[in-house]
Parts: sequence; structure tokens; C-alpha cells
Amino acid sequence: MSKVKYYYDPETLAYRKLEPKRSRRYRNIAFFFLGSFLFGLLGLVLLLNTNLINTPRELSLAREVKNYELQFELLNKKMEQIEYVLGNIADRDNNIYRLYFEANPIPEEQRRAGFGGINRYKSLEGFNNSDMIIATTKRLDVIKKQMAIQSKSLDEITKLAEEKEKLLASIPAIQPINNDDLTRMASGYGWRSDPFTKVRKMHYGMDFTAPKGTPIYASGDGKVLRADNNASGYGKHIRIDHGYGYLSLYAHLSKYNVKKGQQVKRGDLIGFVGSTGRSQAPHLHYEVWKDKERINPMNFYYGSLSPEEFQNMLKYANQENQSLD
Ligand SMILES: [Zn+2]
Repeated sequence: MSKVKYYYDPETLAYRKLEPKRSRRYRNIAFFFLGSFLFGLLGLVLLLNTNLINTPRELSLAREVKNYELQFELLNKKMEQIEYVLGNIADRDNNIYRLYFEANPIPEEQRRAGFGGINRYKSLEGFNNSDMIIATTKRLDVIKKQMAIQSKSLDEITKLAEEKEKLLASIPAIQPINNDDLTRMASGYGWRSDPFTKVRKMHYGMDFTAPKGTPIYASGDGKVLRADNNASGYGKHIRIDHGYGYLSLYAHLSKYNVKKGQQVKRGDLIGFVGSTGRSQAPHLHYEVWKDKERINPMNFYYGSLSPEEFQNMLKYANQENQSLD
């Protein structure tokens, strides 16, 4: 408060209040406001420096960071789902597909391995939310690797499946002659009485009785190895190489329908029943070889027989009768 000043007026003989000059008064008011303003500004700067309040820009940045954090959380939830599905596929891969195709299961550690060696995440370090970002990136890397391994495994299985399909088509898995009522099987694989000498000896094939000229079919895909009369006992005969160590042999034919070197499919007509070679009556003597050993063809008819039929055939085949050779 400025002091009120008085002066003596000789005309009125009284003291009068001394009015300050107008400009001076304005100046005082201006100083007051300027002072208040500066003081306020100083206070504001101090407040801002102490982080007690934020600028609108800071507020909006903080909101953005919160939003990023939320999005990361959602991403992690989604990754959780992906991991679950991938885990499921890996299980099926190991326990069904790879098992079925006789491939070794891929160990869990190998499927879920991250990336070792140098620190790949160095550039992500040093920020407030580095932990979260590094953890998420690592998780994604593991998923990426898991998918690559899974994809490789499925490629391998596709190849194995194609191989298996080829193998299954090649195995001599049907009867070489039309035998719907199974009455044509005359003698099976095993010890039989020789039709000529009557001595008990091993019969390495299966005999199917059928009239001369009855069609004979290839029992699996393969290549005709021989179609000739140059092996003692078999007469006119055909050998088919099926690959994978399998070979089938059809003996005592009357006629050929294929030539040496020809590719055949399962079920192709290759020749006709006869009684050439060491044979007592028209019949087909049929053999299956695996790795140069003759084995029981009976075990390969699963492709064309029902379980009952198989049982019936087994009964016929095991009768120790006389073979037709
Ligand atoms: Zn025979």
C-alpha cells in the first residue's frame, strides 16, 4: 500500500489529499501484473521440472505406451494359442505320422529350441519395457523355429507316404488267379508229399488248380524279370521283380502274355495256366521271394481277402496233402 500524501491549499486553507499522477498509477498496476506473471511462470517451470504434472504431449505419449503394452499382452495371448495348436500338431506328428511311417520322433528339445550363441536381442536392451519386448521376441522365434521343424517333418512324411504307397503297390499282395470261392487252392506252402516220388519234401509255393488257359494275374507292380522255359521243373514260367527285395514266380504256364523287361501293374493279365515242366495236372504253382528266400505267399493275401476268407484259405493251405508241384 502506498502512503497517502497530503498538501496545504492556501486558497481553501485546508489540507487536501495529493492525488498521484495518473501515468504513475498505471505504471504501478502494470508492474504488479508483470510481477505476478513472472512469479507464476517461475512456479510453473518449477512444477514441470518436478514431474508433478504432465504436458498434453506427455499425457498422450503415456497413453500410447499403455496401449502398446496392452497390444503386447494380446499378442502374447495369441501366441499362446498358436503354441497350443503347434504342440498338438507336433504330438500327432510324433505319435501317429512318424510312427506309422517308421521315422524317429523329433525330440521335444529339438522342436522347441530357441536360438543359442550370440545375444540376438542386444538391440532390444536398455529400454523401460525391454524385458517384455525381449520375452515376446524370443517366444516368436521359438514358434518360428517350431514351424520350420514341423514343416520339414511333414515334407519328410509326404516322401515316406509316397514311398510306402509305391511299396504297398509293389508287394505281391493278391492271389494270382481268380479264386473267389477259394476252391482252387490245391496245396499250400510247407511239407508236402511229392507227386512224383511220393517222398515228403518242402513245397515252396502254392498250387492253384485251374483248367488250362485260365488267366493268371500279376500279384503286384513290377518288372518282368523272366518269361521263359529255361529253369528246370518250372516249365514255362514268369518271374516279376517287385523291388524292395520282392519277387513273384508263376510256373507251369501254357502261354505268356508278357515279355521280359515289361512293366506290369498289379492285376495285369500276364499268362495262362498250363501243365508244362514238372507238373502232374494243369495248375499254377506260385511263389513269393523276399531277399532271395522263398516265403509263404499266404501271408500276402491280406490285400484281397476278408478275415473269414483268410481263415478258410489258411485251413486249405495247411492241409498236408500232395502238391501238384
Ligand atoms: Zn507247386
